[in-house]
Amino acid sequence: MAEVFFLPVEKAATPRKVMFKLLEELIVEELFAGCNTVAIKIHIGERGNTTYVHPSYVAAAVSWLRERGFDAFVTDTTTLYVGPRSTAIGCMEVAAENGFTLESLGAPFIVADGLKGEDGVLYKCEWIKGHVVEIARAFYEADAILVVSHGKGHGMTGFGGAIKNLSMGCVTKATKRYQHSPYRPFLAFPELCTGCGECVKACAQKAVTLVEGKPVFRYEQCISCGGCVVRCPTHALAVPEDAIEEFNRRVGWVAAAVVDAFRKWRKPVAYITVAEQITKLCDCVPKPNEIVARDVGFLASTDPVAVDSASIDLIEEYMYPEYGGFANLNGVDPKLHLREASARGAGELEYILVKL
Ligand code: SF4
Ligand code: SF4
Repeated sequence: MAEVFFLPVEKAATPRKVMFKLLEELIVEELFAGCNTVAIKIHIGERGNTTYVHPSYVAAAVSWLRERGFDAFVTDTTTLYVGPRSTAIGCMEVAAENGFTLESLGAPFIVADGLKGEDGVLYKCEWIKGHVVEIARAFYEADAILVVSHGKGHGMTGFGGAIKNLSMGCVTKATKRYQHSPYRPFLAFPELCTGCGECVKACAQKAVTLVEGKPVFRYEQCISCGGCVVRCPTHALAVPEDAIEEFNRRVGWVAAAVVDAFRKWRKPVAYITVAEQITKLCDCVPKPNEIVARDVGFLASTDPVAVDSASIDLIEEYMYPEYGGFANLNGVDPKLHLREASARGAGELEYILVKL
């Protein structure tokens, strides 16, 4: 059973002390022995979001690594949806706006999947049929990886932490699209459609047009974001009944593929999760996000499933009663994607919590 180190928020002092303590407990110096370049995978937060992991924690990790002779860089990937972070240029602008600068971090921020989110290394695994996972190239080229995640709710996976950071955060647009594609909208109730065109306006991808007053989808452009479904005032649109389950299965499968690739490529990986400013939705939301729990603290492990499983259990203890747990928060079982990842060797749901 994997150990998960937990530093409660009451015992946390400065970001430097928090990160140094966790990296030492994980014995990262030994884990990364013989490595030179370390990729620190973060989520930089959408433009307008305020609850992503604060740059001071990332800067502390950079300091710890640099003081021990590692060459660190900070990284994230482009988004699938059209928006401020869908290219490397946009990502770098938003990273700087959100405080991830060379000056604040002590290391450069580099986009992992190239200028347009298409630069990756293919990794074939037996449990994914009809798609070859494409891992963002920077992770292939780095010697070791430190995944720093924000523990919070997520509209489509119930919880977003390390597994989500691997599955969606460490891959190119092609593999992001593969995971999202089950969530494909269609006109389920033509009799309810008034031809108002709200679905067309909702789609930044320009994947919907009205033909004779009814929506027609260009699925090759659709990224399955669900925006049109939510926006339709008469609920004429829907996604397939098992879309959420299939999406979560794919998230788990891809995370397991990324973990498997890192093992085969002999890249040691450590995971730190910051369970502060715990929000209902993910850090892609372009505005301040609803806080649903008291700050919990900081978790660390070498097992991404265990660190997520422990984060969910702990955060639920600290969640404000009116939200009623992660499953209730967004109507999605928060451990579904973890079970899928675990069943394919990414880690264990059971863990030993070591309180620091
Ligand atoms: S938003 Fe709904 S009602 Fe309006 S055109 Fe689209 S499908 Fe029809
Ligand atoms: S789900 Fe709807 S809004 Fe989103 S990309 Fe597809 S057609 Fe556009």
